[in-house]
Amino acid sequence: MAAHKETPFSEGGRNKSGMNGTGGSKGQWGRAWKVDWISLAGVIFLLLFAPLIVYYFIMACDQYNCSLTQPVIHVFMDKTHLLEIWNKTPPLTWKAATIYSTWVIFQVFLFMLPDFCHKFLPFYQGGLQEGAVTPAGKVLKYHINGLQAWLITHALWFANAYHFHWFSPTVIFDNWIPLLWCANILGYAVSVYVIIKAYYFPSNAKDCKFTGNFFYDFMMGIEFNPRIGEWFDFKLFFNGRPGIVAWTLINLSYAAKQQELYGQVSNSMILVNVLQAVYVLDFFWNETWYLKTIDICHDHFGWYLGWGDCVWLPYMYTLQGLYLVYHPVHLATGNAIGILLLGLVGYYIFRMTNHQKDLFRRTDGNCKIWGKKPQYIECSYMSADGTKYYSKLLTSGFWGMARHFNYTGDLMGSLAYCLSCGLQHILPYFYIIYMTILLVHRCIRDEHRCSSKYGKDWKRYTDAVPYRLLPGLF
Ligand code: NDP
Repeated sequence: MAAHKETPFSEGGRNKSGMNGTGGSKGQWGRAWKVDWISLAGVIFLLLFAPLIVYYFIMACDQYNCSLTQPVIHVFMDKTHLLEIWNKTPPLTWKAATIYSTWVIFQVFLFMLPDFCHKFLPFYQGGLQEGAVTPAGKVLKYHINGLQAWLITHALWFANAYHFHWFSPTVIFDNWIPLLWCANILGYAVSVYVIIKAYYFPSNAKDCKFTGNFFYDFMMGIEFNPRIGEWFDFKLFFNGRPGIVAWTLINLSYAAKQQELYGQVSNSMILVNVLQAVYVLDFFWNETWYLKTIDICHDHFGWYLGWGDCVWLPYMYTLQGLYLVYHPVHLATGNAIGILLLGLVGYYIFRMTNHQKDLFRRTDGNCKIWGKKPQYIECSYMSADGTKYYSKLLTSGFWGMARHFNYTGDLMGSLAYCLSCGLQHILPYFYIIYMTILLVHRCIRDEHRCSSKYGKDWKRYTDAVPYRLLPGLF
């Protein structure tokens, strides 16, 4: 596919005429799904069962050594009762509530720090970035300081573990279930708050999407970018902090617990800690890039992101480390190296694919992809106010191999985390099963949205790059 002649407009550039000049029929873009009964059934299923799934997994580790089948078998064979399982579950405690609220307040403080600096030091411009154009045609500004927040938090964690000894490094593991109740309280409080806010005092009314179905709106969100004041952005805060900053701390707490229980940390635990830390650090190192991902650019903020970031992410993404506390797997050196390589190659593909798109979009195609001028398809779309925008879809580099090769790399990395736990139990493999479902569904969801956004131009793109995740297969 030859590179197309460049237009004078780039992503975010406007043609004030408001005319659609490509001839492609373009629906209104933004959230694309209609609430059919399948979507509604999925929404109700998730609202009812996702909290139970989290509870079941964590309880299975706590009471049944991470066996997912034993609790069910015991209940069916009358060896135990649901009430007995529930009664053995640690309740919410003041200690957990104090730890959790201190944690969240500290992360809010770090998140808002650039705003304070900005107010009191007018020349301060650190980390100021623009997001993508919203469906209503708005461009929001963000203060990016996730990496600093991660570094400060981890420096304090290590300073405590090796010098101050204010609290035990196993504190997260030791309070894991009481903390689950705190995370749920925050997750639900945020989700309820944003739906009320969307009805009564939205940050930008034109970017709100009401489907008319309460359950769908509660789960998928109404407001696009809810904010408190000018800078407290719910999406950026909850997606990155407290959940993703906590991810590496949770893993460190699991490693500390292994050390306490067995006098050493297994190579599998080190592998999980290292591979997931690379992924987390990458997220914060590239936080500006994150502003251009689906979470920020396209998803509305509801229970899916609010509760998901507070509860699902820290509890379900860290299952490998939790499992290894109960089953300290010692991998043969060859296996450990093989898994490390799989994780690193997966990470490389994930990062390079994301980087290629980011570079291509940032430079408006004036860059090199794999040492050559990029190939792309020019396309256009309209925002709700009728303004026409131009954009480009890359068709060379990793983006010429498949339409979502970044997901393929992500899945390879995810598989590596799971393989670190050996093959004895299914629980640590939940992550790869879940990620496969999430990313395939996300791929379909994104393509549906892109197709409404770009119309015939999207069809040209899918003709040029026919596969989604695996060249030649899917
Ligand atoms: P992408 O970064 O792939 O973004 C998709 C968007 O990119 C599309 O909506 C479109 O937006 C634009 N786009 C699509 N094709 C092209 C192209 N050929 N050239 C230029 N732009 C294109 O998806 P995500 O935001 O979902 O994922 C970002 C990363 O985050 C991925 O690596 C993913 O694996 C990871 N991820 C991890 C999750 C986790 O839980 N661990 C969850 C979700 C994602 P536009 O409208 O601008 O054209």
